[in-house]
Amino acid sequence: MAARLTEHTDPELLDGRIRQTLVYSLPLRTRFRGITVREGMLIEGPAGWAEWSPFLEYRHAEAGVWWQACVEAALIGFPAQVRDRVPVNVTVPAVGPQAAWQVVAASGCRTAKVKVAESGQDFAADLARVEAVRDALGPAGKVRVDVNGRWSVDEAFNRLRELSRLGLEYAEQPCAGVEELAELRRRLARAGLDVLIAADESIRRSGDPERVVAAQAADIAVLKVQPLGGVRRCLELAERLGLPVVVSSALESSVGLRAGIALAAALPELPYACGLNTAALLAKDVVASPLIAAGGEIAVREVEVTDTGDWAASPERAAWWDSRLLEVDGASVDAASESLPGFSAASSGRIGQ
Ligand SMILES: [Mg+2]
Repeated sequence: MAARLTEHTDPELLDGRIRQTLVYSLPLRTRFRGITVREGMLIEGPAGWAEWSPFLEYRHAEAGVWWQACVEAALIGFPAQVRDRVPVNVTVPAVGPQAAWQVVAASGCRTAKVKVAESGQDFAADLARVEAVRDALGPAGKVRVDVNGRWSVDEAFNRLRELSRLGLEYAEQPCAGVEELAELRRRLARAGLDVLIAADESIRRSGDPERVVAAQAADIAVLKVQPLGGVRRCLELAERLGLPVVVSSALESSVGLRAGIALAAALPELPYACGLNTAALLAKDVVASPLIAAGGEIAVREVEVTDTGDWAASPERAAWWDSRLLEVDGASVDAASESLPGFSAASSGRIGQ
């Protein structure tokens, strides 16, 4: 899928219009999604700063979709907003109950998304974490869990029945497959258990997001801007799916989060808090004033990238990202150097500074 970029993007658009690229390396406060450092590339175009940060293990086809989102932000900018504040959840990593309680209490958010089913932990640890989060939020707060597809249908049914006693707003991707999610929903309904199901990985990694709707596999769609190729594509997808949307991050810096905020700000309806408060998981950020919630909301605003001194990746890592992009971008490195001269000049000259 080396031709991904040119399939979806007019190369003329990029020609000479990228002003600079930088690579960041940001430590996380707590291990999250198996990583302790987040890396990515920032690209400055005429519409502003944009982020390209596919996870390191992602292959080119997938990373190419993330690149489309970056191109949109750098060259085109974001669509019109219909709200100026976005309600968000606090994200609770797979930590112990006391740490979970503190994360929630310190956040000021009234909705919490709790990571469960972490490898190496048992359900008792999940339950203790969710209980602590419920305690920190009080009865009026909303608690959602994210399973990342790690439970079988049986496990999901039994565990959600137990967790539902604590009051669950919804369960995100409790099982991996679309058909499993559909079966789980039917079993929950038959048992009279009112637990909503949100689809995340089944939307962004299955290659067939509409299948979620056709199979009646979810009540809510989680949309992430980079994995789905940009804000406008997400708006189109939301319309096609016809499900309520929760906009979530891909654990980006505040530059990438800005695109998520743009999507949340542009959706005609936003009935749930979004998963966009993840800058709070980073020990550093690339902007002076990170997009972190105050009073459970993030204001829609522009971000300014600060001096790289505090967060630049090593020259070796920057070179790795540079070559990764050249591989993802266009048919080949030589094609890229012809069709994207401005980009190539920027990427060879200024990366990592
Ligand atoms: Mg998720």
